[in-house]
Amino acid sequence: MLLSGAKSRRDLAVSLGVSKAAMTQAINRLLDMQMVDEGAFLSESRPGRKTISLRLRPGIAYFVGTDLEGSAIRACILDCEKKVVAGGKCAIGPQWSPKSISGQWQSLIKKIIKSSCIPMDKIAGIGVGLPGVVSKEELSTHTYLRGGEWVDFCAGDVLKKFKLKMAGGNNVACISEYERQLGIAKLAPDFVSVLVRYGIGASIYCNGTVAVGTKMFTGELGHMRVNMKGEDCICGRRGCLDTFASGRTFDENSFKTQKALNRELEKRSQYLGVGLANLLKLFHPPLIVLNGIYNKYENIVRPVLLKTLSEELEVLNLEVPEVVFGEPVEMKTSIGAAVLAAEQLFESYMDDVLDVRKSVRGRQ
Ligand SMILES: [Zn+2]
Repeated sequence: MLLSGAKSRRDLAVSLGVSKAAMTQAINRLLDMQMVDEGAFLSESRPGRKTISLRLRPGIAYFVGTDLEGSAIRACILDCEKKVVAGGKCAIGPQWSPKSISGQWQSLIKKIIKSSCIPMDKIAGIGVGLPGVVSKEELSTHTYLRGGEWVDFCAGDVLKKFKLKMAGGNNVACISEYERQLGIAKLAPDFVSVLVRYGIGASIYCNGTVAVGTKMFTGELGHMRVNMKGEDCICGRRGCLDTFASGRTFDENSFKTQKALNRELEKRSQYLGVGLANLLKLFHPPLIVLNGIYNKYENIVRPVLLKTLSEELEVLNLEVPEVVFGEPVEMKTSIGAAVLAAEQLFESYMDDVLDVRKSVRGRQ
Protein backbone atom coordinates (compact mmCIF):
# COMPACT_ATOMS: atom_id res chain seq x y z
CA MET A 1 0.00 0.00 0.00
CA LEU A 2 2.84 2.35 0.81
CA LEU A 3 4.77 1.57 -2.34
CA SER A 4 2.04 1.00 -4.92
CA GLY A 5 -0.59 3.36 -3.51
CA ALA A 6 -3.16 0.52 -3.59
CA LYS A 7 -6.33 1.42 -1.68
CA SER A 8 -8.30 -1.83 -1.69
CA ARG A 9 -7.86 -5.59 -1.42
CA ARG A 10 -8.43 -5.88 -5.16
CA ASP A 11 -5.77 -3.24 -6.04
CA LEU A 12 -3.31 -4.94 -3.71
CA ALA A 13 -3.94 -8.40 -5.14
CA VAL A 14 -3.31 -7.06 -8.65
CA SER A 15 -0.20 -5.13 -7.62
CA LEU A 16 1.31 -8.12 -5.77
CA GLY A 17 0.13 -10.71 -8.28
CA VAL A 18 -1.64 -12.91 -5.70
CA SER A 19 -5.16 -14.35 -5.56
CA LYS A 20 -8.00 -12.34 -3.98
CA ALA A 21 -8.51 -15.11 -1.40
CA ALA A 22 -4.86 -14.96 -0.27
CA MET A 23 -5.09 -11.18 -0.12
CA THR A 24 -8.23 -11.26 2.02
CA GLN A 25 -6.53 -13.63 4.44
CA ALA A 26 -3.43 -11.40 4.69
CA ILE A 27 -5.48 -8.23 5.16
CA ASN A 28 -7.55 -9.86 7.90
CA ARG A 29 -4.30 -10.55 9.76
CA LEU A 30 -3.15 -6.93 9.29
CA LEU A 31 -6.56 -5.70 10.53
CA ASP A 32 -6.16 -7.87 13.66
CA MET A 33 -2.68 -6.45 14.20
CA GLN A 34 -4.10 -2.92 13.82
CA MET A 35 -1.77 -2.07 10.98
CA VAL A 36 -4.47 -1.21 8.46
CA ASP A 37 -7.94 0.31 8.76
CA GLU A 38 -11.02 -0.19 6.65
CA GLY A 39 -12.66 2.99 5.43
CA ALA A 40 -15.57 4.09 3.28
CA PHE A 41 -16.79 2.28 0.17
CA LEU A 42 -14.81 3.35 -2.88
CA SER A 43 -16.81 5.45 -5.33
CA GLU A 44 -15.40 3.67 -8.40
CA SER A 45 -16.91 0.36 -7.27
CA ARG A 46 -18.69 -1.61 -9.93
CA PRO A 47 -22.48 -1.85 -9.62
CA GLY A 48 -23.62 -4.68 -7.41
CA ARG A 49 -20.25 -5.13 -5.73
CA LYS A 50 -18.94 -2.64 -3.27
CA THR A 51 -15.24 -2.26 -2.52
CA ILE A 52 -14.19 -1.19 0.94
CA SER A 53 -11.21 1.14 0.98
CA LEU A 54 -8.14 0.26 3.01
CA ARG A 55 -5.72 2.59 4.69
CA LEU A 56 -2.31 1.91 6.14
CA ARG A 57 -2.22 3.28 9.69
CA PRO A 58 -0.02 6.39 9.35
CA GLY A 59 1.82 5.75 12.61
CA ILE A 60 3.03 2.18 12.03
CA ALA A 61 6.36 3.51 10.74
CA TYR A 62 8.05 6.85 10.13
CA PHE A 63 10.87 7.93 7.82
CA VAL A 64 13.40 10.68 8.37
CA GLY A 65 14.28 12.63 5.21
CA THR A 66 17.20 15.02 5.12
CA ASP A 67 19.22 16.91 2.56
CA LEU A 68 22.42 18.88 2.40
CA GLU A 69 22.93 21.63 -0.16
CA GLY A 70 25.35 24.53 -0.58
CA SER A 71 23.58 26.89 1.79
CA ALA A 72 21.44 24.79 4.16
CA ILE A 73 20.67 21.47 5.78
CA ARG A 74 17.03 20.42 6.05
CA ALA A 75 15.32 17.48 7.70
CA CYS A 76 11.78 16.20 8.17
CA ILE A 77 9.83 13.15 9.31
CA LEU A 78 7.13 11.52 7.18
CA ASP A 79 4.45 9.11 8.34
CA CYS A 80 3.13 6.20 6.28
CA GLU A 81 0.66 8.49 4.53
CA LYS A 82 3.68 10.51 3.37
CA LYS A 83 2.61 13.48 5.48
CA VAL A 84 5.24 15.65 7.17
CA VAL A 85 4.91 15.39 10.96
CA ALA A 86 8.05 17.40 11.88
CA GLY A 87 10.68 19.41 10.07
CA GLY A 88 13.38 22.04 10.35
CA LYS A 89 16.26 23.80 8.65
CA CYS A 90 19.73 25.06 9.51
CA ALA A 91 21.60 27.59 7.34
CA ILE A 92 25.23 26.84 6.46
CA GLY A 93 27.75 29.68 6.55
CA PRO A 94 30.21 30.08 3.64
CA GLN A 95 33.22 29.21 5.81
CA TRP A 96 31.80 26.12 7.48
CA SER A 97 34.06 23.08 7.49
CA PRO A 98 32.73 19.57 6.78
CA LYS A 99 33.26 18.91 10.51
CA SER A 100 31.02 21.77 11.64
CA ILE A 101 28.41 20.81 9.01
CA SER A 102 28.45 17.25 10.39
CA GLY A 103 27.87 18.46 13.96
CA GLN A 104 24.99 20.75 12.97
CA TRP A 105 23.45 18.05 10.85
CA GLN A 106 23.41 15.56 13.72
CA SER A 107 21.89 18.07 16.12
CA LEU A 108 19.21 19.17 13.61
CA ILE A 109 18.02 15.57 13.13
CA LYS A 110 18.20 14.88 16.86
CA LYS A 111 16.12 18.00 17.55
CA ILE A 112 13.47 17.08 14.98
CA ILE A 113 13.12 13.51 16.23
CA LYS A 114 12.82 14.80 19.78
CA SER A 115 10.21 17.44 18.85
CA SER A 116 8.11 14.81 17.04
CA CYS A 117 7.97 12.57 20.16
CA ILE A 118 8.23 9.52 17.88
CA PRO A 119 10.08 6.62 19.56
CA MET A 120 13.25 5.55 17.70
CA ASP A 121 11.96 2.01 17.12
CA LYS A 122 9.10 3.46 15.06
CA ILE A 123 11.54 5.08 12.61
CA ALA A 124 12.15 2.73 9.70
CA GLY A 125 15.12 4.61 8.25
CA ILE A 126 16.75 7.80 7.04
CA GLY A 127 16.67 9.02 3.44
CA VAL A 128 19.54 11.33 2.54
CA GLY A 129 19.82 13.83 -0.32
CA LEU A 130 23.28 15.06 -1.22
CA PRO A 131 24.76 17.49 -3.74
CA GLY A 132 27.48 16.54 -6.19
CA VAL A 133 28.53 13.14 -7.41
CA VAL A 134 27.00 10.68 -4.97
CA SER A 135 27.99 7.12 -4.23
CA LYS A 136 24.76 5.49 -3.08
CA GLU A 137 26.43 2.60 -1.25
CA GLU A 138 28.38 4.67 1.30
CA LEU A 139 26.23 7.79 0.93
CA SER A 140 29.32 9.81 0.24
CA THR A 141 29.68 12.67 -2.17
CA HIS A 142 32.35 14.54 -4.05
CA THR A 143 31.01 18.04 -3.94
CA TYR A 144 31.86 21.72 -4.08
CA LEU A 145 31.15 23.55 -0.84
CA ARG A 146 30.40 27.26 -0.59
CA GLY A 147 33.80 28.01 0.94
CA GLY A 148 35.28 27.37 -2.50
CA GLU A 149 36.74 23.88 -2.38
CA TRP A 150 35.93 20.37 -3.52
CA VAL A 151 35.47 17.96 -0.64
CA ASP A 152 34.73 14.29 -0.15
CA PHE A 153 31.96 14.12 2.38
CA CYS A 154 30.51 10.91 3.79
CA ALA A 155 26.96 11.41 5.07
CA GLY A 156 26.84 7.73 6.00
CA ASP A 157 29.54 8.33 8.63
CA VAL A 158 27.79 11.45 9.95
CA LEU A 159 24.36 9.85 10.29
CA LYS A 160 25.29 6.35 11.46
CA LYS A 161 25.06 7.53 15.08
CA PHE A 162 21.26 7.31 14.80
CA LYS A 163 21.60 3.55 14.23
CA LEU A 164 18.97 3.63 11.51
CA LYS A 165 19.07 2.06 8.08
CA MET A 166 19.92 4.58 5.37
CA ALA A 167 19.03 5.16 1.74
CA GLY A 168 19.61 8.11 -0.50
CA GLY A 169 20.95 9.74 -3.60
CA ASN A 170 21.61 13.03 -5.29
CA ASN A 171 19.36 15.95 -4.32
CA VAL A 172 17.92 16.03 -7.82
CA ALA A 173 16.93 12.36 -7.47
CA CYS A 174 15.14 13.20 -4.20
CA ILE A 175 13.25 16.23 -5.50
CA SER A 176 12.32 14.31 -8.64
CA GLU A 177 10.93 11.44 -6.56
CA TYR A 178 8.85 14.04 -4.68
CA GLU A 179 7.46 15.35 -7.99
CA ARG A 180 6.76 11.82 -9.27
CA GLN A 181 5.04 10.53 -6.14
CA LEU A 182 3.47 13.60 -4.56
CA GLY A 183 3.94 16.55 -6.89
CA ILE A 184 3.45 17.85 -10.35
CA ALA A 185 4.74 14.83 -12.30
CA LYS A 186 2.37 12.40 -10.56
CA LEU A 187 1.62 9.57 -12.95
CA ALA A 188 3.90 10.97 -15.70
CA PRO A 189 6.00 8.04 -17.00
CA ASP A 190 8.46 10.15 -19.00
CA PHE A 191 9.83 13.48 -17.86
CA VAL A 192 12.97 15.47 -17.16
CA SER A 193 13.27 17.07 -13.74
CA VAL A 194 15.73 19.93 -13.31
CA LEU A 195 16.90 21.45 -10.05
CA VAL A 196 18.78 24.75 -10.06
CA ARG A 197 20.16 25.61 -6.65
CA TYR A 198 23.85 26.03 -5.93
CA GLY A 199 24.49 23.77 -8.92
CA ILE A 200 22.30 22.49 -11.75
CA GLY A 201 21.20 18.86 -11.80
CA ALA A 202 18.76 16.82 -13.86
CA SER A 203 16.97 13.50 -13.46
CA ILE A 204 15.53 11.63 -16.40
CA TYR A 205 12.48 9.39 -15.97
CA CYS A 206 11.71 6.87 -18.66
CA ASN A 207 8.78 4.40 -18.51
CA GLY A 208 8.11 5.34 -14.88
CA THR A 209 11.62 4.63 -13.63
CA VAL A 210 14.57 6.88 -13.15
CA ALA A 211 17.51 6.33 -15.47
CA VAL A 212 20.35 6.28 -12.92
CA GLY A 213 23.72 4.58 -13.16
CA THR A 214 24.34 1.72 -10.73
CA LYS A 215 27.11 3.48 -8.82
CA MET A 216 27.25 7.16 -9.66
CA PHE A 217 24.51 9.63 -10.30
CA THR A 218 25.12 11.22 -13.65
CA GLY A 219 22.69 14.13 -13.68
CA GLU A 220 25.29 16.90 -13.71
CA LEU A 221 23.50 19.04 -16.29
CA GLY A 222 25.42 22.05 -14.95
CA HIS A 223 28.67 20.73 -16.34
CA MET A 224 27.35 20.41 -19.86
CA ARG A 225 29.61 22.79 -21.73
CA VAL A 226 27.83 25.44 -23.76
CA ASN A 227 30.78 27.67 -24.68
CA MET A 228 34.25 26.13 -25.03
CA LYS A 229 35.87 29.52 -24.61
CA GLY A 230 33.71 30.60 -21.67
CA GLU A 231 34.68 31.34 -18.09
CA ASP A 232 36.53 28.83 -15.93
CA CYS A 233 34.18 26.43 -14.16
CA ILE A 234 34.65 24.78 -10.76
CA CYS A 235 35.02 21.42 -12.52
CA GLY A 236 38.23 22.62 -14.16
CA ARG A 237 36.80 23.08 -17.67
CA ARG A 238 35.50 26.24 -19.29
CA GLY A 239 32.08 27.49 -20.32
CA CYS A 240 29.87 24.96 -18.52
CA LEU A 241 26.17 25.78 -18.15
CA ASP A 242 26.94 26.17 -14.44
CA THR A 243 29.02 29.30 -15.10
CA PHE A 244 26.07 30.92 -16.90
CA ALA A 245 23.01 29.80 -14.99
CA SER A 246 23.68 28.24 -11.55
CA GLY A 247 22.88 29.65 -8.11
CA ARG A 248 26.62 29.59 -7.42
CA THR A 249 27.11 32.40 -9.95
CA PHE A 250 23.96 34.35 -9.09
CA ASP A 251 23.48 36.84 -6.30
CA GLU A 252 20.00 38.29 -6.67
CA ASN A 253 20.80 41.05 -4.15
CA SER A 254 23.68 42.44 -6.19
CA PHE A 255 21.49 44.19 -8.77
CA LYS A 256 20.85 47.90 -8.34
CA THR A 257 17.61 48.00 -10.32
CA GLN A 258 14.78 45.59 -11.09
CA LYS A 259 15.53 46.11 -14.78
CA ALA A 260 19.14 44.93 -14.33
CA LEU A 261 17.95 41.85 -12.41
CA ASN A 262 15.36 41.07 -15.09
CA ARG A 263 17.97 41.39 -17.84
CA GLU A 264 20.26 38.97 -16.00
CA LEU A 265 17.40 36.51 -15.46
CA GLU A 266 16.54 36.64 -19.16
CA LYS A 267 20.16 35.90 -20.10
CA ARG A 268 20.26 33.00 -17.63
CA SER A 269 16.95 31.60 -18.91
CA GLN A 270 18.36 31.64 -22.43
CA TYR A 271 21.40 29.58 -21.37
CA LEU A 272 19.21 27.21 -19.40
CA GLY A 273 17.04 26.84 -22.50
CA VAL A 274 20.07 25.98 -24.65
CA GLY A 275 21.28 23.41 -22.08
CA LEU A 276 17.84 21.83 -21.82
CA ALA A 277 17.43 21.77 -25.60
CA ASN A 278 20.75 19.89 -25.87
CA LEU A 279 19.33 17.29 -23.50
CA LEU A 280 16.00 17.16 -25.35
CA LYS A 281 17.74 16.45 -28.64
CA LEU A 282 18.86 13.17 -27.04
CA PHE A 283 15.77 12.29 -25.00
CA HIS A 284 12.46 13.96 -25.72
CA PRO A 285 9.74 13.45 -23.06
CA PRO A 286 6.54 15.53 -23.08
CA LEU A 287 7.21 17.15 -19.69
CA ILE A 288 9.95 19.18 -18.01
CA VAL A 289 9.66 20.00 -14.30
CA LEU A 290 11.78 22.88 -13.04
CA ASN A 291 12.61 23.51 -9.39
CA GLY A 292 14.93 25.83 -7.54
CA ILE A 293 16.04 29.43 -7.45
CA TYR A 294 14.31 30.62 -10.64
CA ASN A 295 10.83 29.41 -9.71
CA LYS A 296 9.96 32.65 -7.95
CA TYR A 297 10.83 34.50 -11.18
CA GLU A 298 8.61 32.28 -13.32
CA ASN A 299 6.97 35.24 -15.11
CA ILE A 300 10.38 36.38 -16.42
CA VAL A 301 12.05 33.00 -16.89
CA ARG A 302 9.24 31.04 -18.55
CA PRO A 303 8.75 33.13 -21.75
CA VAL A 304 12.50 33.28 -22.50
CA LEU A 305 12.96 29.58 -21.71
CA LEU A 306 10.08 28.58 -24.00
CA LYS A 307 11.26 30.88 -26.81
CA THR A 308 14.81 29.48 -26.61
CA LEU A 309 13.57 25.88 -26.52
CA SER A 310 11.38 26.54 -29.53
CA GLU A 311 14.24 28.14 -31.52
CA GLU A 312 16.63 25.31 -30.63
CA LEU A 313 14.21 22.44 -31.26
CA GLU A 314 12.21 23.59 -34.27
CA VAL A 315 15.19 23.16 -36.62
CA LEU A 316 14.99 19.44 -35.82
CA ASN A 317 11.20 19.39 -36.03
CA LEU A 318 10.95 18.59 -32.33
CA GLU A 319 8.04 19.88 -30.29
CA VAL A 320 8.63 21.98 -27.18
CA PRO A 321 7.59 19.87 -24.18
CA GLU A 322 5.32 21.23 -21.47
CA VAL A 323 7.45 23.16 -18.97
CA VAL A 324 6.08 23.18 -15.42
CA PHE A 325 7.51 25.09 -12.47
CA GLY A 326 7.27 23.02 -9.26
CA GLU A 327 5.30 24.30 -6.28
CA PRO A 328 7.41 26.18 -3.73
CA VAL A 329 7.64 23.57 -0.96
CA GLU A 330 10.57 24.32 1.35
CA MET A 331 11.08 20.70 2.43
CA LYS A 332 10.68 19.16 -1.03
CA THR A 333 14.14 17.57 -1.26
CA SER A 334 14.00 16.23 2.29
CA ILE A 335 10.49 14.85 1.71
CA GLY A 336 11.74 13.23 -1.50
CA ALA A 337 14.64 11.69 0.45
CA ALA A 338 12.17 10.28 3.00
CA VAL A 339 10.05 8.90 0.17
CA LEU A 340 13.17 7.16 -1.22
CA ALA A 341 13.80 5.71 2.25
CA ALA A 342 10.19 4.48 2.45
CA GLU A 343 10.58 2.80 -0.92
CA GLN A 344 13.85 1.08 -0.08
CA LEU A 345 13.59 0.38 3.66
CA PHE A 346 9.94 -0.14 4.63
CA GLU A 347 9.74 -3.79 3.64
CA SER A 348 12.78 -4.89 5.64
CA TYR A 349 11.62 -2.76 8.60
CA MET A 350 8.24 -4.51 8.60
CA ASP A 351 9.96 -7.91 8.32
CA ASP A 352 11.93 -7.04 11.46
CA VAL A 353 8.80 -5.81 13.31
CA LEU A 354 6.87 -8.97 12.45
CA ASP A 355 9.84 -11.19 13.43
CA VAL A 356 10.01 -9.50 16.85
CA ARG A 357 6.27 -9.97 17.36
CA LYS A 358 6.53 -13.63 16.35
CA SER A 359 9.39 -14.31 18.78
CA VAL A 360 7.57 -12.51 21.62
CA ARG A 361 4.49 -14.66 20.94
CA GLY A 362 6.70 -17.77 20.82
CA ARG A 363 8.04 -17.05 24.30
CA GLN A 364 4.58 -16.54 25.80
ZN1 LIG B 1 31.89 22.60 -15.10
